[in-house]
Amino acid sequence: MSWYVMDKADYATALDPEICKLCSEHLSASVEDYMCDRCRNSLSDPPGSPGEDLMFLRKGAYKIFQFLMDFGRETGTHCDFEEDTEAEGSYIFQVGLPGQTRALPEFAGCDEKTRRCLDYVYLSWSQCDGVLIMIPSIMKEEFIFETIREYYYEPKHPSCRSHVGYRVKMVNGDEYSLGFTDRQLGWLPLVSPWSEFYDQRVRRERTSGKELGYQRDVVKGDLQERGVTQEKIKTMLDKYGVLDEDLFGENEEEEQDGDEEAGKEDMPMDVELNRAYRWYLSFSILEEYKEWEREEWEDL
Ligand SMILES: [Zn+2]
Repeated sequence: MSWYVMDKADYATALDPEICKLCSEHLSASVEDYMCDRCRNSLSDPPGSPGEDLMFLRKGAYKIFQFLMDFGRETGTHCDFEEDTEAEGSYIFQVGLPGQTRALPEFAGCDEKTRRCLDYVYLSWSQCDGVLIMIPSIMKEEFIFETIREYYYEPKHPSCRSHVGYRVKMVNGDEYSLGFTDRQLGWLPLVSPWSEFYDQRVRRERTSGKELGYQRDVVKGDLQERGVTQEKIKTMLDKYGVLDEDLFGENEEEEQDGDEEAGKEDMPMDVELNRAYRWYLSFSILEEYKEWEREEWEDL
C-alpha cells in the first residue's frame, strides 16, 4: 500500500459544482438536473440532427462515468484518510485491501455540491490505468468508433507527469478526447474536441496510442491485480443480487483436469464488469420508472 496526497492545488478547478454534467458549460443558474439548456434541448432533437454524434458520445460517457464512480464507491477500500494539517483542502490517504473500510472519507466543512465534486476527484485519484483495465468491453459495446486508442501522455499539469485517456475518432471523422479520470487533474469535461484538448492539455505524447484493451492485457498476468478486481466485480454483482457463484468458472476447474492456469486465462474481467454495468443501467432505469410511477400516483 502506498500513500497518496490529494493536493488542493492539483484538483481545485474540478470543484465547480455549477456545470452542465454533459458538456461542462457553466450553468447560469442552479438547476436540479445539472444540465445546460443547450444539452437539454438537444436531447429531444430528431435523429440525424447536427451534433447528434457528440451528444450521443457525451451521454454515453456520462453514464459510464457515473458507473465508475459508483463502482469505486461500492467496492473501493478507503482507509487512513486525513486532512493535511499543513494545507487546507489537501488530504493524505492510503488505499487498502478488500474487506477494509468501504465508506468514503468525510470531507468536513463543505456543502453538499462541493462534497459531491470532492468525491469524484477522490474516486478518480490514481485510477487512470485502472479504468483502462476495467472498461474495454463496455467501450466496445457502448459506442461505434472509427478508431479508439488508449492515449498515454505527459499532461500540462503542475504535478502529474504521466496520464492516460482515450482518443476516439467517430465514423464521420470527428475526433474527441474521453477522460474518465481527468478530475484528479482538475479537468472537467469528460468529452473534449481532440484538437482543443491536445493544445490545452498535452505537453508531450508518450505513445501515439495503443489498441483498446492494451492496458488490460498488460495486467492479465498479474494474479494479484486480477484477484482484487474480480473481488470487486463480485461485490458489485452481489449488490444487484445477480451474483452467480460460478461467475469466474471456478467450479469448472476440476473438469479441466486441474489445469487451473488455462481456466484463469479465459476469465475476461472487463466482460464481467460489462455485465455488472448492464445491470447497473437496468437498475437506474428501474429507479427512474419508480420515480415516475410515484409522481403519477401522487397526481391521483
Ligand atoms: Zn451542456
